[in-house]
Amino acid sequence: MQLYTFIDWFFTIGSIIIAILLGIYVNGAACLLGLFFYLIYPFIIEFCYNLLSVKQEISITNMPEIPIIYHDNYNITACGIEKQHPFDSCKYRNVYRQIRQKIKAQHFTPQMLSRGTFLYLGMSKWYLLKICYSAYISTLIELHVFFLPGVFLRSFLLDSMLLATSGSVYGAKLALEKGWAINLSGGYQHASLNRGGGFCIYPDITLVVNYLKKYCNLKKITIIDLDAHQGNGYERDFLNDSSVYIIDFYNSYIYPRDRQAEKAIKCFKHIDKRTTDEQYIEILQRDLEVNLKDDMQFIIYNAGTDIMAGDPLGNCSISASGIKKRDELVFKCARHKKIPILMLLSGGYQKENTFAIGESILQLIT
Ligand SMILES: [Zn+2]
Repeated sequence: MQLYTFIDWFFTIGSIIIAILLGIYVNGAACLLGLFFYLIYPFIIEFCYNLLSVKQEISITNMPEIPIIYHDNYNITACGIEKQHPFDSCKYRNVYRQIRQKIKAQHFTPQMLSRGTFLYLGMSKWYLLKICYSAYISTLIELHVFFLPGVFLRSFLLDSMLLATSGSVYGAKLALEKGWAINLSGGYQHASLNRGGGFCIYPDITLVVNYLKKYCNLKKITIIDLDAHQGNGYERDFLNDSSVYIIDFYNSYIYPRDRQAEKAIKCFKHIDKRTTDEQYIEILQRDLEVNLKDDMQFIIYNAGTDIMAGDPLGNCSISASGIKKRDELVFKCARHKKIPILMLLSGGYQKENTFAIGESILQLIT
């Protein structure tokens, strides 16, 4: 458990005890003091945490044999609440196990980055305060969990996502060292530095870009986003940033239809149920040849699999074999141009996706 989460639990339980004691020994109205403390303590701990936490160096002391990034805590289990959502919250573990059956090489296990590092990479303090409150988190994850204490959601949901976000940043470091890396989670493309949405809380793609710029001094970064949904979060963060070149293929009839964010896209193709595997691969190949310039220094590949046939949210019809060809094509282009590439799993909400993801990753790394 993170120190922050421990303190959060301490204050939550403390508030409840204060309210009960005041109710018993003073009067009913005095309980409100406990409730008041419950509502304002996040301001106190956020202020202290932001003040005391410092930016850290991002280093990898034990270089893994294979640049796959995975931590068992990526998987979300919240006493069954996660089952209300169509998202397969344990797909990371299932993909990892599938890979481990054939590849025994040691992978990389990320640690949580410090708050100071997230702030240095651009996270909004105001947004971080807002996600202390379950009423606000409910609007981002599309679950009616506003009645739960914020700390409950932090422990069982947000900390997993924050660890996966840290994994994406470490993945960028590994990709620079090894030429490629795959984080078996991340790709929260609807989150920006000051706003979440669509089950995305932390803007790992933006944070990776900012890491590459601030820590590694890179100036030309490409995001290839092939998830079925528009990557409106990071697009909003890079609306006026010419150093980030965004290629985004998505179904423009579905969420989020963010017209403002669209302005950041340099290459867009609409895909939907009528797009066949052959058409998709042909368009992708042509656009990568045209848009992937030789002076690009890094590729962030958001490899969502919700374009697969049958996905209730993506509403596209690409087959599992189409996914394999797509991933192979992107990696081939990156290798051909000698550009480091970081792959993030992003969306893909059916249980069947897991096998397709595992098979595709295995073909990339064997
Ligand atoms: Zn998606």
